[in-house]
Amino acid sequence: MIVIMKPEALAQEIERICKELSNWNVTLEKISGKQKVVIGLVGDTADLEPLQIQQISPFIEQVLRINHPFKRASLQFRHGEPSSVFVETPNGLVAFGQNHPIVQVAGPCSVENEEMIVQTAERVKATGARFLRGGAYKPRTSPYAFQGHGESALDLLFKAREATGLGIVTEVMDTADLHKVALVADIIQIGARNMQNFSLLKKVGALGKPVLLKRGLAATIEDWLMAAEYILAAGNPNVILCERGIRTFDRQYARNTLDLAAIPVLRSLTHLPIMVDPSHGTGRAEYVPAMVMAAIAAGADSIMIEVHPNPKLALSDGPQSLTLERYETLTQEMAVIGKAVGRWSQNLLSTSSLEDISLQQSAPRVASYAAKK
Ligand code: PEP
Ligand code: MN
Repeated sequence: MIVIMKPEALAQEIERICKELSNWNVTLEKISGKQKVVIGLVGDTADLEPLQIQQISPFIEQVLRINHPFKRASLQFRHGEPSSVFVETPNGLVAFGQNHPIVQVAGPCSVENEEMIVQTAERVKATGARFLRGGAYKPRTSPYAFQGHGESALDLLFKAREATGLGIVTEVMDTADLHKVALVADIIQIGARNMQNFSLLKKVGALGKPVLLKRGLAATIEDWLMAAEYILAAGNPNVILCERGIRTFDRQYARNTLDLAAIPVLRSLTHLPIMVDPSHGTGRAEYVPAMVMAAIAAGADSIMIEVHPNPKLALSDGPQSLTLERYETLTQEMAVIGKAVGRWSQNLLSTSSLEDISLQQSAPRVASYAAKK
């Protein structure tokens, strides 16, 4: 349920209403939008009568029920206002969301050695990427396949971060590794296979760092938004959704079916920023560029692309990885579509005000990796 305040409602009156509502066994969340304040009520609201709440104050404009099982993730919860996820990187603040330029994220499937990860980071940075993505812990179908270099790969990601100032996106698979991963990652990735690992979701929720939540292999939109709800309910508002393809009946020519319709569907349901990963979505490097263009045209807020200095020798996901040269030309092609939809910028710093940031980034910042090691 949400309580929408009139624009003229004073802070004092809003506080009074919150106090009154807090007697009703519900959790309150105050969202200060551009025009209005919305008070979200989460919990057992079945017995609450909107009319009864309306009578608490003449400054209440409207009381609405949220008719989805996902509450905090719903667009209604923010009264139709898209949220922004702000991420601090050494190069500056980067904003994800519908009101910001498209954020490029690129890197190899796995971190293989120092030379390849630093070289890749430098090359993708030169094209305008804001984040380097690389796996230290890899979820592989076969237990005999390369599982990632683990902790030593985290050290290499940290070196690449220091060398380039790019933010780091890397996956956590196990709650036991969460703190190690969080020291290096600017955005913690929850992979498709862990999308419904609820204990992991609760833990990344409690941590507060930005989370990239990939869609499960066979997850419905609702399953996915309910997974996001776990993170939001644990107190972390910094969630980015990532469409990475789902299982359909045809796996002969493409690894997955990239569900680009998910972009407008999500837009109608949630305020959360949307990333698209056409690399896992197609499984084939030659199909990636077309899907990147389509994703930008369809309104994606961010694009994640797997690249490798020598895809033929990659320890994982070589067939879907672009060479660095192809990635460079692709970014020029992306710029054409990005400009056409008014979402392309080479400015590193977001134009958003610090006021917006303090609203969103309630997460405590993790001190530097080097200092803690
Ligand atoms: C990855 O990003 O390398 C990965 C394993 O992705 P997903 O979880 O989408 O399969
Ligand atoms: Mn991969």
